[in-house]
Amino acid sequence: MSGGFELTFCGVRGSFPVPGGDTRRYGGNTASLLLEAAGAPLVLDAGTGIIRAGRQLAARGAHPIHVFLSHLHSDHIMGLPFFAPLFDPRQEVVLHYPEDGGSRSRRALEALFVPPYSPITLRGIRARLRFAPLRAAAGAVALGNGVEVAYRRHDSHPCLGVLLYRVARGGRSLVYATDVESPRVFDAGTRAFVAGVDLLVHDSQYFENDYVGAPRAAAGKTGRPARQGTASRWPAGARRGFGHSTMTMAARNAAACGVGRLYLFHYDPRYSDAMLEEMVRLARREFPRSYLAREGKSVHIRR
Ligand SMILES: [Zn+2]
Ligand SMILES: [Zn+2]
Repeated sequence: MSGGFELTFCGVRGSFPVPGGDTRRYGGNTASLLLEAAGAPLVLDAGTGIIRAGRQLAARGAHPIHVFLSHLHSDHIMGLPFFAPLFDPRQEVVLHYPEDGGSRSRRALEALFVPPYSPITLRGIRARLRFAPLRAAAGAVALGNGVEVAYRRHDSHPCLGVLLYRVARGGRSLVYATDVESPRVFDAGTRAFVAGVDLLVHDSQYFENDYVGAPRAAAGKTGRPARQGTASRWPAGARRGFGHSTMTMAARNAAACGVGRLYLFHYDPRYSDAMLEEMVRLARREFPRSYLAREGKSVHIRR
């Protein structure tokens, strides 16, 4: 491969895992993406999907593995204690994560491995593990194999916001933007960060009517399929301010930033496979090159 990389979706859900049943087609594991370029692996977020990525990477032998975390909400880190390369003494894992002063984030990550949450303790980690805090609101990390990872903070998500990542190699690029609620399209700085990438992965947690808390009777008009019969799964109430996007926000951001392709991602755990297919159909009204992230699917981004 002369440029670009290969992306594999390892976990595509938001909030909590929902294996089996009516989530089988698109998958029930939480957020994690595996990117590979010139034999060097890079992982974006460590939801339960990272367990699958870890199995793939363990089978391929030792490489430095760079893991970049968007933020530390549990759906983005809960797979980390089960990431196989951490327990292999041949491996080196570099953990990049937002750190907002002090060492609170590092302590929170270390806590995943110590009692009472886990029996293993930090000594059980056999790989060389390096913590690489990202303290600035924006910056870039060069990985040495022609891959550059730029990051930029976005503040709409509760607690400390999130980091967006832009991964570039050989003229090809991808932006990972999750948990970035933006009712009025991205601000100018974020648009400039995302502008022109080949592929945008953007959270798409809600249908519009669930976001605004519209009555269920209005579902047909506001975009949620009436046929799914899942009304009892949803407590009433708006989701504004939860920090998550709708498919329309994702599609409008994709259009505003002039990206090549949009992959919807970070689906609400209450949505069935059939509902996701309805979701992407609606997103295509705003941005025709919209697709659904599916667990296990690989996408080539190359020259
Ligand atoms: Zn999330
Ligand atoms: Zn979150």
